[in-house]
Amino acid sequence: NLTDRLSRVVKTMRGQARLTEANTAEMLREIRLALLEADVALPVVKSLLEQIKFKALGEEVVGSLSPGQALVGLVQRELAQVMRGDTAQSGELNLATQPPAVILMAGLQGAGKTTSVGKLAKFLQEKKKKKVLTVSCDVYRPAAIEQLETVTKQVGAEFFPSNINQKPSEIAAAALDWARRHYFDVLLVDTAGRLGIDEALMQEIKALHANLNPIETLFVVDAMLGQDAVNTAKAFHEALPLTGVILTKLDGDSRGGAALSVRQITGVPLKFIGVAEKMDGLEAFDADRMANRILGMGDILALVEQAQQNVDVAQAEKLASKISKGGFDLGDFRDQLAQMQQMGGMASLMDKLPSHMAQAASKTNLSVADKQTKRMRGIIDSMTPKERAKPELLKATRKRRIAAGAGVEVQEVNRLLAQFEQMQTMMKQFKGGKMARTMASMAA
Ligand code: GDP
Ligand code: MG
Repeated sequence: NLTDRLSRVVKTMRGQARLTEANTAEMLREIRLALLEADVALPVVKSLLEQIKFKALGEEVVGSLSPGQALVGLVQRELAQVMRGDTAQSGELNLATQPPAVILMAGLQGAGKTTSVGKLAKFLQEKKKKKVLTVSCDVYRPAAIEQLETVTKQVGAEFFPSNINQKPSEIAAAALDWARRHYFDVLLVDTAGRLGIDEALMQEIKALHANLNPIETLFVVDAMLGQDAVNTAKAFHEALPLTGVILTKLDGDSRGGAALSVRQITGVPLKFIGVAEKMDGLEAFDADRMANRILGMGDILALVEQAQQNVDVAQAEKLASKISKGGFDLGDFRDQLAQMQQMGGMASLMDKLPSHMAQAASKTNLSVADKQTKRMRGIIDSMTPKERAKPELLKATRKRRIAAGAGVEVQEVNRLLAQFEQMQTMMKQFKGGKMARTMASMAA
């Protein structure tokens, strides 16, 4: 893991105010290794490191950052920047044309073209409310046509039949004609792929492109290809005016270096990623997350997301209805605090963040907040169920008993009650899912 490796180097250069040739050389070597380990192609690594070095030199190390943290931050931003490109096309398809908008899929056999057609059909129908027709020009494998029919029907789109005795260009022309006459918004054209780059295949897909004049020509590439992704991308980029890339099988353990290579080599925007075989396994490409993944920080954002999902929506809704009926009591308050701790607490979450992110959210503050959460729970635990349900019962004697039970001062019990009251008032203004988030931010 890059962060681990770097932290060793970082220790030796504390207290330096600028990134210099000398203090970055060793770290740049580590970053180079990390990129190669993530399967970024060598020429791409070289040119990236040049860029990074150029930008790093003379960069001021601000605030409490160490030069190492500053450099890792710079690298992360640089990688994300390269992959993001100039326009925000990720998760989008260009359909701005006289319908039907034709989308042509290109890529090697097994890249995930047919699967991606199904996923895109689902996306276009459900998210974009489009009428979608699919067609297969893969006349080399009967199973490939059937496979497209299956996934198309699975997502509820329409399938234009074809068979292995037809020519790809004839199939395409017939499908386009059908799509026009039946007012389809989008025609998704699946094509054949070979195991390697093959001249005849390139000619065939070039001809298809010329006949169909697609508004999108999507290059589908398997993230597991690693270093080889570069050559494939080059070949398809030279043969076709690609408009976007779909990187598949990112649910595997590849580090995603192919994303960087393909983007750097073709300059074509990365639009979607495939994250499962299932039809809902398609996501918008996210440059920052991919940069983190490539640098070995990939689990971090997933972790944060997971933590957010752990806030039980159903429970939050139950609470919301309790609140609107005025029944939110200290017992519920305690449950919310417990839920936050289940997430591992704020401080432990921050521990898992890359240093340059964690330093933004001061860790000391967070661990103080965690300790406080624990004490608050302790206080509520020392109450009887009746007291929890009716905080107004809490007069001086009871408060002393509770404070003693929780090992705190009476003032702390008072503070908790004041906080609870304040929260109760605030929470009355919120409903449903919003609430959990409000509570988390209040406690932090
Ligand atoms: P094609 O030859 O390019 O049409 O590739 P297919 O769509 O037939 O996919 C080849 C294999 O990869 C199939 O077994 C798919 O289920 C699988 N596949 C495609 N995309 C993904 C993905 O994003 N994740 C996973 N795990 N498998 C995928
Ligand atoms: Mg296929």
